[in-house]
Amino acid sequence: MSDSVQKTIVCPHCGQKGEAQTWPVVDAFEDPEAADALLSGTLFDYTCAGCNTTFTLDFDAIYVDDYARSRVRYARRAEDRADEERLVDEMPAPSHLDPDDDRPYTSRIVDSRDGLREKAALFRDGLDDRAVELIKASAFDLFESRGEVDAGDIVRYGGQTEDGALLLEFIGDAGVRETEVPRSSYDALVARELPADDVVVDAAWAQRAARDLSDQDESEE
Ligand SMILES: [Zn+2]
Repeated sequence: MSDSVQKTIVCPHCGQKGEAQTWPVVDAFEDPEAADALLSGTLFDYTCAGCNTTFTLDFDAIYVDDYARSRVRYARRAEDRADEERLVDEMPAPSHLDPDDDRPYTSRIVDSRDGLREKAALFRDGLDDRAVELIKASAFDLFESRGEVDAGDIVRYGGQTEDGALLLEFIGDAGVRETEVPRSSYDALVARELPADDVVVDAAWAQRAARDLSDQDESEE
């Protein structure tokens, strides 16, 4: 199931009214163009026909990717995000599954448009977002200890190199800086038993999970 909804927008610059297409649900199977727009960061863009200004709309959106066996829901409002169970229950059921494919289905809730884009990209690339969040957190800690990033900077998944290394983008006042993490670091995390029941897998999740993993390492020594 996929649908777009027309919304009337009044341009804040010139006052011209226009129709914007919004996507409560983006189904990668049924709407590959909308999925590509999400991945390239333009899904939320609206360009005014009167003054040609492009600005960013904000609407709740669900990304469904049955190939990648994943769903991601962006909920704008904190009070909505507090009810994780309902948010997950209300997501469209998978409808294009290969019956022979028994990989688990992943559901996630995010609190930003860019978080939605990032999860969609990760899942499309066949990655485990838990391992990537852990890698992001440890790369951030390392850069922060060297004074190379500020506490308010964010780090995002930025794709993969040809040999499978992960690209991370550090985004801050100084601009965007990219770093590469070897595939072996990712593979080592995927091989571990990572917490499986959480639907919010973000930087705070990674800090908790990293503590749990290091506790396990210590008790095994
Ligand atoms: Zn305008």
